[in-house]
Amino acid sequence: MYLEKEITKSRAATPSRSSDNLLSIKKITKNFGAISAVSDFSMDIKKGEIHCLIGPNGAGKTTVFKMITGVYPPTYGKIYLKGKDITTMNTSKRMKLGMSIKMQVPGVYSELTLRENIRIAAQNFVKEKDIEKEIDRLIDVVGIRNLGNPLVKNMSHGQQQWLEIAMALAAKPDLLLLDEPAAGLGPDETEFTAKLVLDLNAKGMTILFIEHDMNFVKRIAKDVTVMHNGKFFAEGSLDEILSNKEVAEIYLGKEAQAC
Ligand code: ATP
Repeated sequence: MYLEKEITKSRAATPSRSSDNLLSIKKITKNFGAISAVSDFSMDIKKGEIHCLIGPNGAGKTTVFKMITGVYPPTYGKIYLKGKDITTMNTSKRMKLGMSIKMQVPGVYSELTLRENIRIAAQNFVKEKDIEKEIDRLIDVVGIRNLGNPLVKNMSHGQQQWLEIAMALAAKPDLLLLDEPAAGLGPDETEFTAKLVLDLNAKGMTILFIEHDMNFVKRIAKDVTVMHNGKFFAEGSLDEILSNKEVAEIYLGKEAQAC
């Protein structure tokens, strides 16, 4: 594991981007007036990784996601996707280049059916003649065929989360961002989501997710980055992070009890 002081040197010595980094975040800062939500934060995500970003409330995780997806421009710093500088690129161009996100609150159309929602997500990426086949493919990728075709407002919170993952996959991303995929889920739904994410990763999808549910993190994460007070704090394998007392006691607070 690397703590901040140790990693600062290695970052300074290696400013170039490694070719196997799908996503590379270099010293990004986001200031909102006098508030510094994220400060000098760096992180690399390699192809094929399943990487979790954790930290206590207000650590800056969501702000980092918003800078990755183009919702906020960084005040300082650079972001690269597949080696291309996307720092000032708009969100839809980033999506076309190969990233997709499932937000924490499902961005689904509740008055429409499951299939109609996936159609809306898929229609930008396949021709009309192929769209029913593509909807079927996406339903099978996330494993929700057994649900049939309900109105979304009649689906459970977990089912809506899986639907939104299907919609995010319509863009055929190389990098899938998940913002708290286990939030608000019961144990069975959490396990379904864990299996789904592991299955996507086994098929080659690179995944970066934010999560507070440490049981879910333990179930699926291989690499973990820890933020605190808007800054990088630590990085390492799941085992390294879970066994680090500073991370557990100081930075995870009460979630550490579950570790
Ligand atoms: P949580 O786990 O609670 O979602 P987080 O780690 O995602 O927290 P952020 O939501 O990124 O943290 O917030 C980081 C800090 O930046 C917080 O102090 C927050 O109040 C502040 N912040 C975030 N967005 C804004 C904004 N638009 N304007 C001002 N301050 C903001």
